[in-house]
This record gives sequence, C-alpha cells and structure tokens, in this order.
Amino acid sequence: MPADKSITLVGGGLAGALLAILLARRGWSVDVFERRGDPRVEGYAGGRSINLALAERGLHALRQAGADGDVLQQAVMMRGRFVHPLAGESGLQRYGRDDSEVIWSINRGELNLVLLDIAESHGARLHFDHALEQVDFGARIATFRHHAERVAHPFRALVGTDGAGSTLRAEMAKVLPLGERTDWLDHGYKELEIPPAADGGFRIEPNALHIWPRGHYMCIALPNDERTFTVTLFMPHRGAHPSFETVQTGDEALALFGEQFPDTLPLIPALRHDYEANPVGNLATLYLDRWHLGGDAVLLGDAAHAMVPFHGQGMNCAFEDCVALADHLDRARTLAEAFAAFEAERKPNAEAIQRMALENYIEMRDRVDDADYLLQRALELVLQARHPGRFIPHYAMVTFMRIPYALALHRSEVQRRLLEDATRGLATLDAVDWARLDAAVLAALEPLQDA
Ligand SMILES: Cc1cc2nc3c(=O)[nH]c(=O)nc-3n(C[C@H](O)[C@H](O)[C@H](O)COP(=O)(O)OP(=O)(O)OC[C@H]3O[C@@H](n4cnc5c(N)ncnc54)[C@H](O)[C@@H]3O)c2cc1C
Repeated sequence: MPADKSITLVGGGLAGALLAILLARRGWSVDVFERRGDPRVEGYAGGRSINLALAERGLHALRQAGADGDVLQQAVMMRGRFVHPLAGESGLQRYGRDDSEVIWSINRGELNLVLLDIAESHGARLHFDHALEQVDFGARIATFRHHAERVAHPFRALVGTDGAGSTLRAEMAKVLPLGERTDWLDHGYKELEIPPAADGGFRIEPNALHIWPRGHYMCIALPNDERTFTVTLFMPHRGAHPSFETVQTGDEALALFGEQFPDTLPLIPALRHDYEANPVGNLATLYLDRWHLGGDAVLLGDAAHAMVPFHGQGMNCAFEDCVALADHLDRARTLAEAFAAFEAERKPNAEAIQRMALENYIEMRDRVDDADYLLQRALELVLQARHPGRFIPHYAMVTFMRIPYALALHRSEVQRRLLEDATRGLATLDAVDWARLDAAVLAALEPLQDA
C-alpha cells in the first residue's frame, strides 16, 4: 500500500461517490470534485435515466460500502420482464428461479444522495460546483472551474469518475494517446412517465421490468417507489418509420403509441407534452486502449468504458470497478502498480459486458416474444436443474453472479450453441434428445467454482 494515502476523485456521480466511501473507510484521504451543485441542497440535477436496474454486482459493492440497507429501502423489486406483445397475451417471464434472483429498480438521484452522505460521514471532502478544466501532470496541479473562479488543486493522483464525456480522459490523452474510439448507436431514447393511479397505487404490475418489443424499436418501463413508472422509448434516430425523424411532434407520438403501444396510451396522460419537452438521448460504446497514466491518473466507470444500457449493467460494472480499484490500492506497493493491475483485471471484463449489452438490445426489442426464444429459455431452466453449477443461464451469470463478465460471455456462447442445436426444428421440449444433450453439456462446460 502506498505510504501517502491521499487521492483526488474527479466526478461525484454514482461511481465517484461509491469509490469515495470505499477508500475513506480504508483510511484514504479523499477529495471529490463534482461539476454540479450539492444535490442535497439544490435538488438532483439528473438529466438522463431517472431510474436504474441494480443487480448483484452493484449490490455487492454497496454491501462493501455499508450502503445496501439505505439503498434497498427505496428500491422496487423486479422479478422478471413483463412482456407486452402487440397481439397475444402479456405476461411475466421470471429472470431467475425465485425471489432470491431478482433485480431492483432504484432512483438515480436518491442513490447518489445516499452515497454522498455516507462518503462524507467517513471523512471524504466533497467539493461541489467544481468542474475539472485542466491538468498539469508535471506540476501535479488540477484546475477546476468554481462559478466564475478557477481553483488550483495540488494532487497526488487523480481518479476519473467523471462519466462518458470525461474531461480527465481528454487531459490524459494530451500526455499519452489512450486509443479512444466511440461507436455511436444509430438508435436513441426518450423518457416518458406513467403517473400513479387515482388511488395512489401503481397503474401496472409494479414488480417487473415491462417491455413492449416491436422488432427494430421498443418501449420499456421501470417502477419507482413513488408509484410511478419511467417509460423509455428506444428507436432509430433516422430512417424508416418509426424513427425519431418520422415521429417528432406530440401528435405523431400519439399516433405511434395508439397504433403500436395501445395499452400504454391511457397510462401516459402527458404523452403529447412530454414527448415534445423531453430530449432524445444518444447512446454509445466507448473503447480505450489504456485506462491509466502511470501512477498519476486512472479512469473507471463510464469514463473508461461507457456502454449501451440494454443489459442494465453500466452502473453495476462501474461499482464493480470501484471495489476492484480499492482492493488493488490495498495490495499494491505503488499507485502505478495498483492502476496497472486494476486495468489488466477490469478491461477485458468491461469489453465483454459492452458486447453483451449491444447483443441484448436485439434480444429485448425483437426476440423476447419469439417462440424459439421462449423454447430456449425453457430449456435453459431444465438444463440448469439437470446440471446445477455447470449450466447456468446467461442472464443469471451476468445478473445474479459475480463471475468475471468475460467468463460469462464465453460460457454464454457455448451454451447458446447447445440450446440452438438441441431445439432446432422443435416446437416443444418433448422431443429433445436428453442423453445426447446431457453428454454435450458435460463435454462443453466445466463446473463453475463460484456457482
Ligand atoms: C438510458 C440509460 C439507462 C441506464 N440504465 C442502467 C441500468 O438499468 N443499470 C445500470 O447498471 N446502468 C444503467 N445505465 C448506465 C449508468 O447510468 C452508468 O453506467 C453510470 O451512471 C456510470 O456511473 P459513473 O459514475 O461512471 O458516471 P456518471 O453517473 O455519468 O457520473 C459522472 C459524474 O461526473 C460529473 N462530472 C462530469 N464532468 C465533470 C468535470 N469536468 N468535473 C467534475 N465533475 C464532472 C458529472 O456531473 C457526474 O456527477 C443507464 C444509462 C442510460 C443512459
């Protein structure tokens, strides 16, 4: 562990606030500089994605920080995806085997507030209204914009928790090229709201993540503890109808929802107004060749590996990064050694979840109501019961376990081939050749140590 245990975090969002707790609890002297004002005084200036799905990886990190109790108090359990096809029956597809395998819908602002409070209670110094502008790595001075002033802050090392548009990343790249590449998704998103029912309750099933899959576009809705749902419409920015190019006005949105999401129309009374008032968000995957600059600076969370939101893992992955960095800082002799070991451990895993997140968009918008997809999901559950600890559904490995994402990706690819081969041409599981399939599973998959 380095002798001088002082560190400066740039960005007091989700990852910055959590990392501040983890390090302050381990005796580090932590300064956090956040561009926005103090949300506990001024209210949370959110912007995007009002609520988020919290899964085991994020929850584990919150446990390490002693924050899980406060966070879960305000969370809404989601047992599975509630699929609303255009024609046919709506229904719940469970994510796991029972209520021990669920995810949680949490409010971004409340989560940030809880984490900032705990960070401060452990001695982290929070500097709001301080936006990083420039870093002189030679002189070890970071300069922040504080209202009309420029404030110089001497630092030992910087951690970039300043999100996808990271200024620290840009400053590091002036010293050493980071190999940055951003792949913009040609789809965007817009948020809408389902308010509470007249009696103050939820208007639709609260304990689920709702999906309206429509092929090349979709809506989802996550519950909030104040009995509302945040609805997110994902669709292409441009091109054939419907896209954000062909659906621009409130009336055009009403027409689209009337045709394609008719059951949501009575649920979203302010659709026309909100569609026009709320911006279209952009989505991208950020790839870097390197995340750190010797022992001077390191990036994590969205600043290092922003991803599309379709696996609900961006924050979960960022929180897992925080635990990993805090552990490496404990173990390594120097900051440079800690940052290098952190990057070596986390980069392949971040790349794996970035890929799975892109793949999951197609699954959510196009596959969840297909017969062959449903048959393969049913077979996954049977194989999980026949081969406990060996065949574990893809979603469970990513969401309910903490095995490295890269391992989850590798095993998922093997399993997908087994599922496709075993169900090809079948309408039910009755005709599955179990002896052959069991042998194939045993040959292809080692038991998982962590299962
Ligand atoms: C539509 C959508 C839905 C999502 N859903 C989920 C989900 O269900 N589950 C999930 O796990 N993830 C989800 N994510 C991803 C998740 O939001 C991010 O991965 C997560 O917020 C990353 O945390 P972070 O702390 O790295 O960055 P951020 O949360 O972006 O925080 C960065 C902080 O840095 C501050 N900052 C920026 N620039 C500066 C500067 N120059 N100086 C000082 N401070 C600065 C910002 O004000 C902010 O507070 C979703 C994302 C989107 C867009």
